[in-house]
Amino acid sequence: MRNLIALSACCLVIGTVGAADPVVPPVKGVPNIRPNLAAAAAAEKANLEKDGKPAEAKPADKPKYVPPQRKNAAASAAAQREDEARAEAELSDKIAQRLAEMRANQAARLAAAEKNRKQKAAKVVAEEVAAKAPPPRAYGTHWSYEGESGPANWSRINSDWAKCASGTRQSPIDIRDGMKVDLEQIAFDYRPSGFNVTDNGHTVQVMVGPGNYLSVAGRTYELQQFHFHRPAEERVNGKGFEMVVHLVHKDPEGKLAVLALLLERGKPQPTIQTVWNNLPLEKGDTATPTIVLDPNDLLPQRRDYYTFMGSLTTPPCTEGVLWLVMKEPVQASPAQLALFSRLYPFNARPIQASSGRMIKESN
Ligand SMILES: [Zn+2]
Repeated sequence: MRNLIALSACCLVIGTVGAADPVVPPVKGVPNIRPNLAAAAAAEKANLEKDGKPAEAKPADKPKYVPPQRKNAAASAAAQREDEARAEAELSDKIAQRLAEMRANQAARLAAAEKNRKQKAAKVVAEEVAAKAPPPRAYGTHWSYEGESGPANWSRINSDWAKCASGTRQSPIDIRDGMKVDLEQIAFDYRPSGFNVTDNGHTVQVMVGPGNYLSVAGRTYELQQFHFHRPAEERVNGKGFEMVVHLVHKDPEGKLAVLALLLERGKPQPTIQTVWNNLPLEKGDTATPTIVLDPNDLLPQRRDYYTFMGSLTTPPCTEGVLWLVMKEPVQASPAQLALFSRLYPFNARPIQASSGRMIKESN
């Protein structure tokens, strides 16, 4: 019995070792020793009562005689010891089994905790690696002037359009604080040319035949195309304009120069009317008229201008573009302005930071 009590105590101690350990339930099927003892005592008493008659006197020459009641008592005690020994053995087995189970559970819990710790560590490492790695490349091509695909998100739509967000020489700008100097005149060498008109989904664009040049600051650029924005993207000392025409030129090295003609409400503009007369019926379509168009007819009388470095005002927002903004606005009739607004009520990029760039203007 002392062994049993010691084992039970041991079991209780182990069972309360870890705070996370569940309370050890009573071991099923383990006999309670105290009732067994009581039962054994009761059985012995019953035996005594059953066989309790006074023993008959026997002759003394029968030395091996054992009184029946004492014989029964001895047998009962032996049986009790046997029961106790069996119970003790069974209990020992069950306690050992329970201990093994508890150790296995504890080992499993420790293993799970270690696995969890390793997984967390691996996750942290993966996150650190991801933070150092460049963001995944984007290949979108759809952009617009508002909403999800609007100017604030252009740089995220396509990785090649990063300059739209990161550039420091972006266009358009509010033209102010120009340095008044004797700017050389822009030399225009324009001529009547074949053209076609495309509604490209962002604006109306006019491709012009070859042989139209503009020279400034020692470089000669050839006119590629012109297109329209409503309202004008540029501002001058905070003042906005109804529309603007951008004439895009390129030199043999691929450098760009954009001439901007600000449009204000006034008399009809014949070249703009020629373009409107030849608009394609569907977006994405191109109309190819058989007449010619002279870009000279778009220019204002006075040739004073502002000049500064900037960018394309549409994705990919490429920088290194020479901007030439004519000071004198060009007039267009209310009907001509209204016609464009039916196609493109708003297709202007917001004003960009000047970031201290130099602006020169004609005296
Ligand atoms: Zn433009």
